[in-house]
Amino acid sequence: MAAKDLPAGTIVALRPGLWRVGVPDPLQPPGTWAYVFVGDRHLGIIDPGFDSPAARRVWAAVIARVGRRTAMAPTVLVTHVHPERPSIAGWLARRLGGTWGLAAAEWHALRHVGTWTEADRVAWFGRLGLDPTTARAVAAGWMAGVTGLEAACPVALGTVRRMGADRLKGWWTPGHTPGHHVFVAVGRGEWFTGDLVLATVTPNVSWVPGGPADPLGAYLSALRTLRRLAPRTIYPAHGPVPDAAPTALRLLHHHATRLRTMLGLLTVPRTVAEVAEAVFGLGRRSAADQRRALGETLAHLEYAVRRGMAVRLLGGEPTPVTCRLETLPGDRGPLRYGRGPGGTPDGVADGDRNPRPEAAAPADHGR
Ligand SMILES: [Zn+2]
Repeated sequence: MAAKDLPAGTIVALRPGLWRVGVPDPLQPPGTWAYVFVGDRHLGIIDPGFDSPAARRVWAAVIARVGRRTAMAPTVLVTHVHPERPSIAGWLARRLGGTWGLAAAEWHALRHVGTWTEADRVAWFGRLGLDPTTARAVAAGWMAGVTGLEAACPVALGTVRRMGADRLKGWWTPGHTPGHHVFVAVGRGEWFTGDLVLATVTPNVSWVPGGPADPLGAYLSALRTLRRLAPRTIYPAHGPVPDAAPTALRLLHHHATRLRTMLGLLTVPRTVAEVAEAVFGLGRRSAADQRRALGETLAHLEYAVRRGMAVRLLGGEPTPVTCRLETLPGDRGPLRYGRGPGGTPDGVADGDRNPRPEAAAPADHGR
């Protein structure tokens, strides 16, 4: 989802020392938000965006306005690895000097799948329940958009670092991607949230090979923290600025509703693809959407397995919760999920009660 009201190429001063830049994105027009911290002699950039000639012109205008001396060797941070966030960071680093950082957990997951052959990838989607023809189509192009990472360094983002005249602290919030981070401006009540929350829809929350074992659990935990701390302003990477606490509550209820729907389908053991077909209409979607739908379904089912609400079956036999999916034997047919002894998913929202459940069924964010 991209903001319909985003004028690509605009540079807006949000307050002294903080600009918001509309970066055009040909894959997701009109574009995404980048945030620029301007100090006397230092420049900080969050999520510089997708690399394109139009985006390079926008950044050339930003650098011209800042002044080249201040712009040299900027600190460039990315909230996550989806290509609309970091792909131009390598170009910026080469043009201005220095390097840019990508969360270590992002690196780990990328390298994990990066070692897989095409046959491995097709086999993976087969294990989720796709037939061989569909599995080949869905595996093709997986990770293809993740480019321009050559200059990135795997870094620990949880430290406080200078960005322009501000100090920002990173906070690991996996779920949308394995290494997704939020950056908090110390003492200002401003959170730069990437794709943690969006104003009207939910970000995709996927189980990813090589990523955290319980991405939905981590994501819901981050939402509860966001709701409890209720920062004054959150700046997302897409779309309008949402209110922190109500948005977090809406998303908590959305995922609780989705989990109940999925568990309701497990009256007989089902593959991930069968559950995703029932919930998302898998067969009507593009290959990229099918990957996201399968990842989101798997995130919910694995959340349920770890809390006893579902069981993971391989060849009809339950598998231990602690087994990584990628390491389970692949010659016993696809994974299936069945009902567990753990009852209902009331714990998803930690006791929250949705006063308007009809409001909790947004479509999923595409990236
Ligand atoms: Zn994203």
